[in-house]
Amino acid sequence: MEIIRIPRIMQDTAKGHSLRGRSIGFVPTMGALHEGHLSLVRRAKSENDITVVSIFVNPLQFSPSEDFERYPSDYEGDSKKLKGEEVDILFMPDITMIYPEGFSTHVEVENLSEKLCGLFRPGHFRGVTTVVTKLFNVVKPTRAYFGQKDFQQCVIIKKMVRHLNMDIEVVVCPTIRESDGLAMSSRNSYLNKEERRAASVISRCLAQTIELIKSGIIDKEHIKRFMLAKLSEEPLVTEIQYASVYDAENLDEVEKVGKEAIVAIALKIGSTRLIDNMLVKVLIKPGEESRDAAESLYTDT
Ligand code: AMP
Repeated sequence: MEIIRIPRIMQDTAKGHSLRGRSIGFVPTMGALHEGHLSLVRRAKSENDITVVSIFVNPLQFSPSEDFERYPSDYEGDSKKLKGEEVDILFMPDITMIYPEGFSTHVEVENLSEKLCGLFRPGHFRGVTTVVTKLFNVVKPTRAYFGQKDFQQCVIIKKMVRHLNMDIEVVVCPTIRESDGLAMSSRNSYLNKEERRAASVISRCLAQTIELIKSGIIDKEHIKRFMLAKLSEEPLVTEIQYASVYDAENLDEVEKVGKEAIVAIALKIGSTRLIDNMLVKVLIKPGEESRDAAESLYTDT
């Protein structure tokens, strides 16, 4: 595995591969790698000639009160894992290489970045879209791989790629979970033993909400009340930021679950902020098109 730290060298290397007709699969990460990240790497490897993984903790997407300074890092462990996956290139630039002094150019996807997580993390998605654009310009991927766990990020990046005519295929990969259902996240390492146990309330609540929708309850208010009640049963939940059902494209809350929706949660356990979501596809059973929708729903997550 080649380790590249200088953007210009990464660019020249990427150009060389493109000239030889090789496709480049790219997985951008902030390191402290776990099976969730590695699932993206495996998918990228299976679909491309060359696989590039970046590790860059992007200061632009953290507000001053957030955890930039203490974000987990394990460069040795990470590079061992990536070698094990036979990744071709690890791109690990220094901050000054990405944000030279006087840096003042940003990319922002309006109307989506302010919703959901954006309400609680102002500027976060502007930081994400700016760094992802820069990484795309340097790595020049054919395909880029992102996790469904950060579904708002996926929706925003897909829109950015479309709106800015970037010639890149965005591939969204399923969320990888611990055995109790907790979505894997580098931030799970902040949780103590009790908090870690409590954190399983998130995926449990999502799964139960999907069962509720399957049973025919498609009304937002009812679903929201159910979710808030379930999450409130866990005393270590210190703040529920959002918990509801959203349109999978425009990220607005839906009044009633229609064809496709996202059930999503953001909350704090102690001081650790965690997010998760599950996709609900509501289909009318074949042959039951004429029945009342609520009676003939089934879901596919
Ligand atoms: P991060 O290092 O947290 O910025 O994540 C890098 C990429 O890995 C993002 O596209 C995430 O959505 C994805 N990712 C993080 N956790 C998971 C998970 N549990 N399952 C699948 N993908 C994930």
